[in-house]
Parts: sequence; structure tokens; C-alpha cells
Amino acid sequence: MQLKGFLIDMDGTLYIGPRASTGAVAFMNQLAASGLRRVVLTNNSSRSGARYVERLTALGMPVRPEEVLTSGEAAAAWLQGHTALRRPYILGTQALADAAGAAGLTPTPFEGEPDCVLLGYDLDLTYARLTEAALLIAGGLPYYATHADLTCIDPRGLLPDAGALIAALEATTTRRPIILGKPTTSMLEAGLGRLGLSRGEVMIIGDQLDTDIPLGLNHGVRCALVLSGETSAARLADSGLRPDWVCAHVGEVHQRLIEEGVLGGG
Ligand SMILES: [Mg+2]
Repeated sequence: MQLKGFLIDMDGTLYIGPRASTGAVAFMNQLAASGLRRVVLTNNSSRSGARYVERLTALGMPVRPEEVLTSGEAAAAWLQGHTALRRPYILGTQALADAAGAAGLTPTPFEGEPDCVLLGYDLDLTYARLTEAALLIAGGLPYYATHADLTCIDPRGLLPDAGALIAALEATTTRRPIILGKPTTSMLEAGLGRLGLSRGEVMIIGDQLDTDIPLGLNHGVRCALVLSGETSAARLADSGLRPDWVCAHVGEVHQRLIEEGVLGGG
């Protein structure tokens, strides 16, 4: 198997809540030592990549900043590379505005004549900013979102994620955004760019049937589903989707990679 790199989901795959998932630390550290490349992915556009470096490092699997890709970074890179839009109104956190700035865009306030709207998971949402976004969207500006996940898992229960904000704005304006992030090409392109590899050289590992697995299946990239997060075997069966591999957890993916000779046995 000619695998040279991995795109690896974080939540539900490398960790579950506050704990590293089974086999994750050994897998990530062997990847780092092996010379195979790895980029970790999240559709959460509310935090900076640096926060994930800290989190993974604290869990015993240190990564470099360039090995972390958020949907906010992927969305900003997509706008920069595929459109002439440069002045997004950001309905999102400062981390998303920073990601846009780093990609060469100029986050622009309501009164500054933005040329598009970019919606993310906005932990700092206020009614005033929701109103501004609604007015801009109703006025016809190109409208994008970093991802469309409806809910975010939290120890307290499910929380409203970007998809819930999209729904509120759709109720107000009847418009829906162009979705970026997982499972769209924007995330794959940004991930492959970070890896410096092509589709046939990469495997995607993740726990979600609506994001991680279609990121692979829709783009001809091998994918491994782990059942350690959001997806049960029953839900997989109901979905009709056929990931290349189905594993209990990332430790089992690691074992299979050793058996296939992609990684050395130890
Ligand atoms: Mg996940």
C-alpha cells in the first residue's frame, strides 16, 4: 500500500472528551517518528490551530502548528484561492478572523462594505452581529460557511454549532450558504496542500459519517472509519456508506497499518 500521509480527525478519533482514545498516543508518535506525514483536522472554526497544538501536546501526542488544519483555515484559503472575494464579514470568533487575515483576506465590519459573509462556529455571537449578518445575506452578498455541523458535543449536552446559526439565518433570509470545511473539496485541498501529497498517497481517518467519510469517498481518497466517536456499527449499516476500513478505534487502524507494512511493527 503506497501511503505517505494521513488526514486525521481529532474529536472522537484522537481523543474523546478529556482523554486520548485507545491507541492514539502510540499511533501519533510512531507516525511522527516514521517520516510519514500527518495533518490533524477539525471542523471547529471557533478556535485557533494553536489551541489544538496545546491540547494534543497535553494529551501526549505533540504536533507542529502546520500539522493542524481547522475548517476556518481551509475556508479562508478557499476564498483566497478560488474567488475574487477579499473582504469577508465574519460571523465567528476572533480566531476565524485571524485565520482569514493569515490567508490574505481582510475581515471587514458591517459598515465597511464587506464583499461576502463567512459564517463559523461563533462562540461570541450577539444579536447585533446576527442581525448584521442577516441584513448582508438578505442584501445578496456571496455567503459561505466554514462547516454545517448542527450540533457540537459537550459534557452538558448538544450545543448549537454553525449549522444552527445557518438555520436561524435561513429562517430570516431564506438563503443558505455555500458550505466549506469537511466534507467539501476545500478541506481536502487544504489538507493535501499541508501534506504536500496527492489523493492516492493519503488516508483519511475519522469518526463521522457526514464529514470524515464522505471527505474520502467523494474524492477518491482511502478512508478509515473509527467507531470510537459519533458512529455506531448500526448507524454505519443504516448509512449504506462503505469506508475502506472500519475499526473500533485508532489503535486498530495502527495495527492494520503495521500488518499492511505501511508502518514498522514494534
Ligand atoms: Mg470527529
